[in-house]
Amino acid sequence: MPSRSLSRTTWFAILGATLLSGLILWETARYARSVALDEIRTRSAYTLDLVIENLRGELAKYSFQPRLLAHSTVLTDALTQYPQASAMDRANSELERINEVTGARATYLMNKDGLTIAASNWSSDKPFVGSNFSFRPYFKEAMQGRLGRFSALGTTSGERGYYFAHPVRNADGIIGVVVVKMGVARLETAWRASDDIILILDEEGIVFLSSRPEWRLNAISPLSAAAHQRLSETRRYAGEAHRELSFSRAPDSDIIEIGKIDALGTSNRTKKYLAISAPMNEAGWRVLILADASGVAYRVQIALLVVGFMLASAVLASLNIYQRRRRLNERLELQEAAKAELGDKVRERTKDLSRAVARLRAEVSERQRAEEDLRRTQEELIQASKLSALGRLSAGISHELNQPLTAIRNYAENARVFLSRNNTATTDANLGSIVEMGERMARIIRNLRTYARNEPVGSRPARLLQSIRDAIGLLQPELRSADIEVTSDFTDDELMVIGGDVRLQQVFVNLISNAIDAMSNAPRRHLTVSVEPRATDVAITISDTGPGLRAKDMNRVFDPFFTTKEVGKGTGLGLSITYGIVNQFGGYIEAANNDDGGATFTVTLHRVESNREAAE
Ligand code: ADP
Repeated sequence: MPSRSLSRTTWFAILGATLLSGLILWETARYARSVALDEIRTRSAYTLDLVIENLRGELAKYSFQPRLLAHSTVLTDALTQYPQASAMDRANSELERINEVTGARATYLMNKDGLTIAASNWSSDKPFVGSNFSFRPYFKEAMQGRLGRFSALGTTSGERGYYFAHPVRNADGIIGVVVVKMGVARLETAWRASDDIILILDEEGIVFLSSRPEWRLNAISPLSAAAHQRLSETRRYAGEAHRELSFSRAPDSDIIEIGKIDALGTSNRTKKYLAISAPMNEAGWRVLILADASGVAYRVQIALLVVGFMLASAVLASLNIYQRRRRLNERLELQEAAKAELGDKVRERTKDLSRAVARLRAEVSERQRAEEDLRRTQEELIQASKLSALGRLSAGISHELNQPLTAIRNYAENARVFLSRNNTATTDANLGSIVEMGERMARIIRNLRTYARNEPVGSRPARLLQSIRDAIGLLQPELRSADIEVTSDFTDDELMVIGGDVRLQQVFVNLISNAIDAMSNAPRRHLTVSVEPRATDVAITISDTGPGLRAKDMNRVFDPFFTTKEVGKGTGLGLSITYGIVNQFGGYIEAANNDDGGATFTVTLHRVESNREAAE
């Protein structure tokens, strides 16, 4: 029988499937994440390139201007003739005009000490003229003969800008510095539309430009003391305080988590960004693109859901198949068991049947043996009773033979006398009588011999009337000595019945003997034997004029050993044997009393159809 509990193999299969599913899900998550991140990375790299290119283009537009201006005689004159008013006016107007053409935020001229002596915004409410910017690195670089570059917050204007500075020379060497301040706010406005956060960081890690205005001038990492020192020396951001953006980045990862920025007006939730950056050394900047990576988790979830669903479907399908197979196996096992049980039952029944058959066979052969014994016994009995009847007949028969024998002797003696007298005619008559007597004796003896013959068992066509005549013939001496008158009315010699000649003769010998016995003391002694042929059978009645059967004996006369005769005379077997013989031939025998006394025995036997009748 199938066990209800799961087998070890099944447990291993479940464990294996779980581990495999876990591995697949883990790999799926990893793969989906890397694909999503790669996509973002590619997009960000593109954005980064765009931003850098854009910045480079913008910077390139202004970087060469101070160099051009440095050769202007108006400016060299202003430097050499300072503080002559007319030279200053010319320089102011020249710078204002040029600034207007170039679209710069401001263009101005500083002397060797860093003092601004002329500026494009000379006439504005916050003119640079008179201010000293010697603390700015661009001034120092220009004074060293190089192109000064610097990004900073204007100390006067409070506006962010990128400064390009170039030394102004004459024969004596560097006599001043011309500066072009480029406005940067406009760049940011273009970035606002971008989904990504674009940050331009300076060398200290301070956000100089940002697509998020609120992040401006905040630091992405803690500032060192040296950095603080540098910032205050160069007054880069005009003394503005720098808050720290809470950027946290795992080592070797380009994912940045930004949190606690509610104070900055964004979100109070930690958000993940993919960071990609590139240096812009010529500007002293680092461009940082922060791409929103929160979609990655969503993509991973979707991928996990899809794969999970597929896995679950696969698991369910396998379970289903497993269950079906299990059920099928169970059913097959049950069928096998039922078949085996049926086989057992059939075998058992077959065994029972064979035993019963064997028993029946034994019984049948036992019965056959018994029947055979019975048949043999009956036959022996029939023969014995016949021989005993012969014994009884012998007295009459010897008398019957004695009579012709005496007659023969008399006829022979007489013949001798007639022969001596030469009376041949009478002699011949006597001899004829002797032959007749001899024939009669031979007939009697033949009848006796036939009767004594042991006839083989079985039925065959028998000549009925011959048997009756032979029976009467055998009993003739007794009938005569008992002075019984015999009436027999039958003529059809060819009447054939199913029987046997000798046994039929025995039947009639028995019935006639009983009639002779019954009539021994009767006043009238008359035996009637009649034969009545019918369509398929024939009835033979034997009637006497004896006392008849007593009413109480009517049903018992055919029983073996029933006799009313005195000891030594009757055996009580005659009628019983007669009954058996008639029965053997398929006929039957009945006993009845005559209306005027006396008994009648009727034997009914089957007729054998003559060929003529059969032909019809
Ligand atoms: P048994 O002649 O040796 O007695 P049976 O079987 O021939 O045996 O007869 C049985 C009995 O049936 C006889 O004893 C007799 O009483 C009775 N019986 C037979 N035949 C006749 C008959 N023709 N008339 C009266 N009684 C008869």
